[in-house]
Amino acid sequence: MAKIKKTVKTIKIDADKCNGCRTCEVVCSAFHSEPKYSSVNPATSRIRVITHRLKDIWLPVFAGEYTPAECMGRDKYIIDGKEYDECTFCRATCPSRDMFKDPDSGLPLKCDMCEGNESGPLCVEWCLNDVLIFEEREEEVEEEVVIDEMEAGLEALIDKYGYDKLGTAFARLTQKA
Ligand code: SF4
Repeated sequence: MAKIKKTVKTIKIDADKCNGCRTCEVVCSAFHSEPKYSSVNPATSRIRVITHRLKDIWLPVFAGEYTPAECMGRDKYIIDGKEYDECTFCRATCPSRDMFKDPDSGLPLKCDMCEGNESGPLCVEWCLNDVLIFEEREEEVEEEVVIDEMEAGLEALIDKYGYDKLGTAFARLTQKA
């Protein structure tokens, strides 16, 4: 399998600095609204801040991959004496919860690092407490890894709309190209 170069983007989270203001959720949902900046709805944000107000615990979690099935193994976290639900810090869009799904269409929401925004992810830019730190690096990966990512996205669309509708959409796009 051929190796190709891939740009890996990460957001480092300095959780101790987070005060739970949720500005990151607001700007993320505004950037990803259609048309851009036309509305704000934190339920559509690709970053969600998990909170436990009484204990002053705030932890930003970014939307990750779509998965069509629940996982068999689960993690349990106890932070400062508070036990969190098994799925609380998971980044996946999966059938067992509503997190990281568009509330209207049910389609998975995945962090795209605010693709198209020249200054990088808006949550990083607008977090005034420097909780979120953007990093970018080049890595060599197997070509198969990139194909796997495309397949996961297509799988989500097939689950939602079925093969026939997706086929029609591809046919229309091919005509436009
Ligand atoms: Fe935390 Fe920064 Fe998000 Fe505010 S904007 S909730 S401080 S990560």
